[in-house]
Amino acid sequence: MAAAISGAGRCRLSKVGAARRPPPARVRVAVRLRPFVDGTAEENDTPCVRGLDSCSLEIANWRNHQETLKYQFDAFYGERSSQQDIYAGSVQPILRHLLEGQNASVLAYGPTGAGKTHTMLGSPEQPGVIPRALMDLLQLTREEGAEGRPWALSVTMSYLEIYQEKVLDLLEPSSGDLVIREDCRGNILIPGLTQKPITSFADFERHFLPASRNRTVGATRLNQRSSRSHAVLLVKVDQRERLAPFRQREGKLYLIDLAGSEDNRRTGNKGLRLKESGAINTSLFVLGKVVDALNQGLPRVPYRDSKLTRLLQDSLGGSAHSILIANIAPERRFYLDTVSALNFAARSKEVINRPFTNESLQLPVLAPVKLSQKELLGPSEAKRARGPEEEETGSPELPIAPASASQKLSPLQKLSSMDPAMLERLLSLDRLLGSQGSQGTPLLSTPKRERMVLMKTVEEKDLEIERLKMKQKELEAKVLAQEAADPKEKENYSSTMLRPLARRTVTVAKPLKKAVVMPLQLIQEQAASPNAEIHILKKKGRKRKLESLDASQPEKAEDGWELQISPELLAHGRQKILDLLNEGSARDLRSLQRIGQKKAQLIVGWRELHGPFSQVEDLERVEGMSGKQMESFLKANILGLAAGRGCGPS
Ligand code: ADP
Ligand code: MG
Repeated sequence: MAAAISGAGRCRLSKVGAARRPPPARVRVAVRLRPFVDGTAEENDTPCVRGLDSCSLEIANWRNHQETLKYQFDAFYGERSSQQDIYAGSVQPILRHLLEGQNASVLAYGPTGAGKTHTMLGSPEQPGVIPRALMDLLQLTREEGAEGRPWALSVTMSYLEIYQEKVLDLLEPSSGDLVIREDCRGNILIPGLTQKPITSFADFERHFLPASRNRTVGATRLNQRSSRSHAVLLVKVDQRERLAPFRQREGKLYLIDLAGSEDNRRTGNKGLRLKESGAINTSLFVLGKVVDALNQGLPRVPYRDSKLTRLLQDSLGGSAHSILIANIAPERRFYLDTVSALNFAARSKEVINRPFTNESLQLPVLAPVKLSQKELLGPSEAKRARGPEEEETGSPELPIAPASASQKLSPLQKLSSMDPAMLERLLSLDRLLGSQGSQGTPLLSTPKRERMVLMKTVEEKDLEIERLKMKQKELEAKVLAQEAADPKEKENYSSTMLRPLARRTVTVAKPLKKAVVMPLQLIQEQAASPNAEIHILKKKGRKRKLESLDASQPEKAEDGWELQISPELLAHGRQKILDLLNEGSARDLRSLQRIGQKKAQLIVGWRELHGPFSQVEDLERVEGMSGKQMESFLKANILGLAAGRGCGPS
């Protein structure tokens, strides 16, 4: 299958992962020291590198053995370390990021003959990082993508080499030089590069082994089968959600066996070999410049200055979880290359990558959103809000989701694919609805028709509120006008408007010949025995329409009606007045009929001198009231208290 790693269509997809971006990840650096190997040791060759612990090492100056350089890395693997140690310690932990839709890369760096290919590929007896990672990844994707799990997973592989600044497809060598591109989200892609789907390790071997033979190798004095190119194995893990919202994720793993970083003067290279070496060193030199630019935070990072760095753009200072394995050799003759490799590794560990989840949504969800835009904004505005990218959503090369997919999408996921301007408009409308009491019905989560109805309701409510406000203002103006014209009228008007409930009961009882007043505190008692009425007025002379019973004018009622207070009400009222006389402040006392400021103070003074009142009639002694005045005082106050209000000062 010759499928391009093309992200052209994906640019239009939402970058969901950007919203929940993982924290930056520093490039991790491990150093692996290979053992002395047969045929490479020269007479009197002694190791110049020594491991100190699992993270640090020292290298002795070949001119002055007393002088040593110490380095510290994320991990140091000594000459006795196994392939499994390196894999489990530094590579396996980053594989899980692929299933989260993030990128990962492993780069083997170092001079020719230091063990890069051994680390990455290994041998059938000692398999390296590549076969181990493939084995684990395929196992992981089989488990995670099994029936019944939320995501369906598929794995593809591509294999390329960068030889003399040319990108060659090792799975399809006749393709020629391929171009490296970057999509709008910063993903690096190579259109036209072969991708082979693999479901088992046997699949992988079937494609990988013949492709490896296509690698350009030659012989140099340093290494019989020196790798003269950068070999890049790309493994892509695609995930598709089985149920709504049918998200898609893509994680890329780069496994890179870099060509040697040797010094040309020692390779004995001439002619073509020298040219090759120059190209190799140029790209590694640019790699060094890229690392330096990233460390210094320079605005321009020279990724484009070489094919290698362009390809590694999303692995160094880009979006990947990266691990650099610097391979070094123990022999003294490697001293300069080893120091140079260690210095490069030390610089690389300062580089911070910013991984993000490469997640997208299937495109057909845009269709219903476009419809609601039209409905909400009207055709002309909707057209303006729609970006040119969205116009292309009907493009035939885009994946078609099942019809139910778009229906089941959550509103948030629908929004993620919207034009930002449009989204802003909708959000402000949503806030408007929320502020007007529709919090329980967020605009954006309702279907379009309901949304329209909701908006209409809000508009109507707005108008209604405005109408009521106007009416209230009119009434207030009317009251003020009447107050200015006739203060008495104001009293009538306000008494009609603001009359307490108990008094209104009397007013509406026009046909009754008996008016019933219930003291507020007796309402509950009466509710318990509804037949018990407290009669306070009874017809005395000719029939008279009782317009209103104003407790402040009890004598008026006496004109045609005899005031008769029931004994219970009388006893209750007397007790209340007595309590007030004994416990009330001067201010409280002023609520009694005929008691003003002066008399209230007199009562308080008398109380302090003679102790509490034992009966209301004691008031006669303070006030010098006559018996008739006392009777009138009692009636007025008992009636007032019965109506549930203070009587006001006399
Ligand atoms: P490079 O790819 O860096 O040029 P190689 O991986 O080809 O170097 O290694 C050079 C030689 O050293 C090979 O014969 C390889 O088998 C051997 N070698 C490298 N690393 C180790 C190691 N850790 N253990 C044993 N042999 C090693
Ligand atoms: Mg090699």
